[in-house]
Amino acid sequence: MSETILIVGAGPTGLSAAAGLASVGKSVVLVEKENKLGGAPILSGYAKLVPSGEWAKDAIGRMVARVENDARVTIHRSAKVAKVDGGFGNFAATLSTGQTVNAGAIVLGTGFTHFDSINKPEWGFGTYEDVVTTTQVEQMVAAGKIACPSDGRVPERVCILLCVGSRDRQIGREWCSKICCTVSTNLAMEIKELSPKTDVYVYYMDIRTFGLYEDKYYWRAQEEFNTKFVKARIAEVTQGPDKRLLVKGEDTLVKRPIIIPFDLVVHAIGMDPNLDNPEIAKVFGVELEKHGFLERGEHYTSSFASTRRGIYVGGAALGPEDIDTCISHGLAMAMRVAGDLSALVQKAA
Ligand SMILES: Cc1cc2nc3c(=O)[nH]c(=O)nc-3n(C[C@H](O)[C@H](O)[C@H](O)COP(=O)(O)OP(=O)(O)OC[C@H]3O[C@@H](n4cnc5c(N)ncnc54)[C@H](O)[C@@H]3O)c2cc1C
Ligand code: SF4
Repeated sequence: MSETILIVGAGPTGLSAAAGLASVGKSVVLVEKENKLGGAPILSGYAKLVPSGEWAKDAIGRMVARVENDARVTIHRSAKVAKVDGGFGNFAATLSTGQTVNAGAIVLGTGFTHFDSINKPEWGFGTYEDVVTTTQVEQMVAAGKIACPSDGRVPERVCILLCVGSRDRQIGREWCSKICCTVSTNLAMEIKELSPKTDVYVYYMDIRTFGLYEDKYYWRAQEEFNTKFVKARIAEVTQGPDKRLLVKGEDTLVKRPIIIPFDLVVHAIGMDPNLDNPEIAKVFGVELEKHGFLERGEHYTSSFASTRRGIYVGGAALGPEDIDTCISHGLAMAMRVAGDLSALVQKAA
């Protein structure tokens, strides 16, 4: 019987679970496949996070430092779990590095993969240099300059296309990625702050700046930053003779075709299931739900259980989530795991 907990993935979810378990005196082994901790906000270089407005490198950096400085947490970077033997209370995981970790329970915080806009070719990504993604614009904001990749000019007109790789049944992505409306309206304001003369348009099907984000982002972007919102169905992005990008579609409020020129077109990319999920399902013996995210065991009395006893799952591995929710999932999993392991120890005594 081992009371060590193996956590896979060091994004907001895994880091929160690790800190929670360490704070109640548990030994944790954290395995991260990249050579840096922090998950998507650090690996993809996000700028200021919603809703706190803090730079990702500072906010998530604090979460990383808390775990790195805790002697109860052993960290394996650039490593994956290759094989899992045993069961609840007595797992033995073999890492890709050849090391073995004995653990009573396993937490999967393996997150998501950003939608690859190449899978939406009619919207110009991969064809035109000045069609970029929200993660690229996050990196521009973090570097302090908004520029067209083709020639470095500051764009006069920017358009952000929402729901790229989300709510799109034609390409097998039926889900809403939850956070991209808010992230995009925040980016619209950040672009304007960096370049006050740039006009920013947001093309949307619906606006889902949920909960308290409605006035903080949606209304503020319009009223204080003059962002223009256009309800539209986009057909394609092409290039005009002057090399400007042409966004073609239908304004669905007035039911008229529109063709509008822009210097920079931004895809608000969604959250796909982690590309590793088929491998994770096989190695850990857990099931996937129909879209390819990890499946839950039961929601209400056994929250964050996967479909295998002793293995828990939370955060964006379960489906699109924001960071605050992922942090809560991590803490909730810490509580569940500590409670379930102590019940197992008492039963065995
Ligand atoms: C463009 C964009 C901007 C966003 N901005 C915000 C924002 O401002 N505020 C907000 O609240 N949310 C934001 N989000 C959502 C945010 O990115 C997620 O909520 C958060 O990253 C999910 O955390 P996670 O730990 O569950 O997963 P991830 O961040 O994906 O972390 C998972 C970790 O697991 C590792 N991993 C994956 N597979 C394996 C494996 N097989 N073995 C070992 N390690 C593995 C990964 O390398 C990664 O480090 C944004 C999302 C997008 C798409
Ligand atoms: S949050 Fe907004 S942009 Fe993202 S998928 Fe949902 S509706 Fe589309």
